[in-house]
Amino acid sequence: MNLREAVAPLVKGDVVDDPETLKILSHDTSIFERKPALVVYPKNAEDISALVRFALARREQGEDVTLTARSAGTDMSGGPLTDSIVVGFTKYMNRIRELGEDFAVAEPGVYYRDFEKATLAANGKILPPYPASRELAAIGGMIANNCGGELTLRYGKMNRYVRELDVVLSDGSTATLRPLSKDELAKKESEQNFEASIYRGIRELIEKNRNEIEAARPSVSKNSAGYFLWDVWNEARDTFDLTQLITGSQGTLALVTRAKLGLEKLEHHRGMLVVFLSDLDILPEIVRRVRAFEPESFESYDDNTFKLAVRFAGDFLKQMGFLDSIRLGFAFLPELGMTLSGGVPKLVLLAEFAETSDELAREKAKSAQAALEDLPIKTRLAFGTMGEKYWKIRRESFALLRKHIHGLHAAPFIDDIVVHPDDYPRFLPQLNELLSKYNIMYTVAGHIGDGNFHIIPLVDLKRPEHRKTILELTPKVYELVARYKGSITGEHNDGLIRTPYLPLMFSPRMIELFAEVKRIFDPNGVFNPGKKVPVLGDGGTVKDVAGFMMNE
Ligand SMILES: Cc1cc2nc3c(=O)[nH]c(=O)nc-3n(C[C@H](O)[C@H](O)[C@H](O)COP(=O)(O)OP(=O)(O)OC[C@H]3O[C@@H](n4cnc5c(N)ncnc54)[C@H](O)[C@@H]3O)c2cc1C
Repeated sequence: MNLREAVAPLVKGDVVDDPETLKILSHDTSIFERKPALVVYPKNAEDISALVRFALARREQGEDVTLTARSAGTDMSGGPLTDSIVVGFTKYMNRIRELGEDFAVAEPGVYYRDFEKATLAANGKILPPYPASRELAAIGGMIANNCGGELTLRYGKMNRYVRELDVVLSDGSTATLRPLSKDELAKKESEQNFEASIYRGIRELIEKNRNEIEAARPSVSKNSAGYFLWDVWNEARDTFDLTQLITGSQGTLALVTRAKLGLEKLEHHRGMLVVFLSDLDILPEIVRRVRAFEPESFESYDDNTFKLAVRFAGDFLKQMGFLDSIRLGFAFLPELGMTLSGGVPKLVLLAEFAETSDELAREKAKSAQAALEDLPIKTRLAFGTMGEKYWKIRRESFALLRKHIHGLHAAPFIDDIVVHPDDYPRFLPQLNELLSKYNIMYTVAGHIGDGNFHIIPLVDLKRPEHRKTILELTPKVYELVARYKGSITGEHNDGLIRTPYLPLMFSPRMIELFAEVKRIFDPNGVFNPGKKVPVLGDGGTVKDVAGFMMNE
């Protein structure tokens, strides 16, 4: 009896192993490829419990059967890739269960685009940490990666919005995780079941290692690396909250089957300040002054992106209606002028202010502009279509580059680094020097307000020298980030690409604690192996990265 025949009678959902499905699910948007043995589309949590019990039984017989969750599969790190069983959520577990005044309850397979339509219609609110992949990603992966995006500067990351999670644990039992008071925690711990043993284990681990954990708290404002042991005890509310550990854990601790998520109402009147900058030394001062005006977002793109935008401006215009394209066409003239005169800035910064009225938004943008008056930079205010132009460049240049440069892949391997904005003047030249040693084409765009840069090179994975570059450059960039006490991933998470490098960012003791967290939640290793907890020793870690890399 093959794996499909053994699993099919155990679940109500679909169990498939046809070559086409296996091929599609061999990829996410990372540089990796792993072909699963089987794909299961569960109908409900009971199906997942049955799968866990099946995997446990097979593991007991010495077979390496594991379960890896997959929502929309847009992960850039290899998180949803496996050679064993994929549990796919978007086919059936894709319903919004409840829409409240300031929350929504959804299954993990709900696409964010559908989720937002529903919440806006119900109460005019949204889930602010949506990622740039908002049209593609789904709720389960957003939680499991602890995603963030352009609104994170003001509204924080996904962990701030997770209120309650229904999960299937690694013994097949189910649990509802939410913040517990001390009394509730004591009661929970006194129960005689697997969930109680997790509460006891994690509480003891945190109590015994409080100093070590606190010392390892990332000093930057965004982080998706490691397990988030820092906020399980919420000091302000005096609660113990395991949802904070599940968020960002890439399906390695438990599988999420339902989530209650907080929502926010955004201000819709916006004004933008654009800063053209060539002297990176004054960047921290600009960031400090602009942040004082509390922009809703503070983004950036580099000179390569700028030049691409001018080169492919026609494509931007094609996406728009006739009148809008004429207006936007004129809006590109200043950029064309700068390119022709050789005056392309090193960085373009976009600070957008969202307020209760157009007047207030314009006032904020103007005040921020005035606050920069004495600095050697060019600034511009952008409202309406003008602001749209800058957002288009920020969001879409990279997609255009991929479309126009054939034979090359967007290769995320140093795609999500974070350093403190105060460190920009020292860090950025060192980073540029490092990148300039390799002959690769890349663009840098980022969330400049919170120090998060997306560097995405274009490579040809068939070329040995490009594969070598990935293996060489990755640890060098992460070592540099670690020297500045930054994070190797602000949003995109560890997956296959960064798990081996976690020891660069965390102490050996913290790595042991991560392994201990995994053992407490998943003692038999059923969930998503090889992610979040590095395999140490013999330099074997880097070999893993090479081993899973795509060949074309
Ligand atoms: C163009 C582009 C832009 C992007 N921009 C951003 C960005 O701005 N910010 C950002 O944070 N990310 C970004 N990403 C990465 C990715 O899109 C997001 O992290 C997204 O939230 C992942 O959602 P998904 O549904 O595709 O997850 P998947 O790829 O399906 O899974 C992601 C991880 O979550 C786990 N998982 C999935 N479902 C469950 C579940 N039910 N229970 C437990 N674990 C589960 C998987 O095992 C995997 O480890 C971007 C990706 C692309 C391609």
